[in-house]
Amino acid sequence: KETYPHEPVFLQAVQEVLQSLQPILDKQTEYAKMKILERIVEPERCVSFRVQWMDDAGQVQVNRGYRVQYNSALGPFKGGLRFHPSVNQGVLKFLGFEQIFKNSLSGLAIGGAKGGSDFNPKGKSKTEIMRFCQAFMTELWTHIGATVDVPAGDIGVGSQEISFLFGQYKRLTRRYEGVLTGKNLLFGGSLARPEATGYGAVYFAQAMLDARGQSLEGKVCTVSGAGNVAIHCCQKLIQVGAKPVTVSDSRGMIYDPEGIRLDVLKQVKEIERGPLTRYAELVSSAKYTPVAAYPAGRNAVWNVPCFAAFPCATQNELNLADAETLLANGCGCVAEGANMPSTLDAVHAFIASGIAYGPAKAANAGGVSVSQLEMAQNASMQRWTFEAVDNQLKHIMYDIHQRAAATAAEFGQKGNLVMGANIAGFRKVADAMIALGV
Ligand code: NDP
Repeated sequence: KETYPHEPVFLQAVQEVLQSLQPILDKQTEYAKMKILERIVEPERCVSFRVQWMDDAGQVQVNRGYRVQYNSALGPFKGGLRFHPSVNQGVLKFLGFEQIFKNSLSGLAIGGAKGGSDFNPKGKSKTEIMRFCQAFMTELWTHIGATVDVPAGDIGVGSQEISFLFGQYKRLTRRYEGVLTGKNLLFGGSLARPEATGYGAVYFAQAMLDARGQSLEGKVCTVSGAGNVAIHCCQKLIQVGAKPVTVSDSRGMIYDPEGIRLDVLKQVKEIERGPLTRYAELVSSAKYTPVAAYPAGRNAVWNVPCFAAFPCATQNELNLADAETLLANGCGCVAEGANMPSTLDAVHAFIASGIAYGPAKAANAGGVSVSQLEMAQNASMQRWTFEAVDNQLKHIMYDIHQRAAATAAEFGQKGNLVMGANIAGFRKVADAMIALGV
């Protein structure tokens, strides 16, 4: 805390993990002897660089780029790139730290990393985005590689940005290799990768509910966000017979008691790339609430009564008051599609309530898992069908649930998937770090 007071979200992520680890630290005294905690909280490497590019008006623009290579004990560094004005080293350290345990928990051979820039893609033309991506990769390429570090997308980085980044990597290195995931299907992308994080969050909710003899069928669900994760979460919810009734973006939220219309949501967010007010113009049953009209200090999405809630926008979008409102309204399941969407006190409220609560590093691991499947397809020069990838994704999410649930039970905290996910993820990385030597 003394060393990183300027990185509050990083400290929050570390605190959440460390709070759960005491039982295993008591059991495995070697971890303290080998200084695993002191080593695991420090990234192996943080690269930070200037990104200089020219806008459409011929003006020079300057942004900061980063890659936080956190831990490679289990495999090549792996984690997304985020382009958003809020990006700084502390945000990427929080995301990279979480990524270590998520990737470990997925059972796949990948280390943890995260990167990005404070570049704001909103309002930029396609050529500006292309020039920015090319300038970003001109600095990044020397630090990555198909068996070294394999970035993917995150907030503000979708298929278009990955294509521009890959094009520049290829130009600079003359190598056509799986150095990025989330690629276009034309050059090595995997079917079902765009859907994977949102679908995975729903599969994880199903795994939690199956274990309790419950299901999502016919249930009202709330979803926050209106980007990649939220859209595919809504899509899978509809496929399994549930009814998502909300979506949100940074300007406001939609409540549609008839159920979110996926075709309209995709039209507004993927094609027009406009605000959610447009959704309300197109669907008469939808009610739009701007952020300015949210209850003070609250996120209005969590006011809507639901059986299951899926936070899929961003960090700290669900606080204690939101959690208490959800619980008071009878919510029995929360599966986190976004990274660290719930504040620490909200997490504690969910655990104490005994509802089915799936923390991000378990519930949103579907994206990185299918990224690893994309790497496997690239390495073997194969393309698997959508159904084959989707089936594997479902299995992986059920396995993650099983691993987290079994570990929680092993340490006497049955049902506490926060503890189960943290310990199960940590144990593998710690053992690998010890085996690899100092
Ligand atoms: P997108 O950029 O596609 O969408 C993000 C959505 O969240 C947008 O609707 C955006 O609204 C909204 N949002 C962003 N910041 C805020 C904010 N401060 N307040 C309110 N709304 C906000 O990103 P993704 O869907 O890919 O990512 C969403 C979350 O899921 C992130 O936490 C990400 O780290 C996590 N995640 C993503 C994975 C993936 O595969 N893409 C994998 C694992 C986790 P607006 O457009 O108005 O900014």
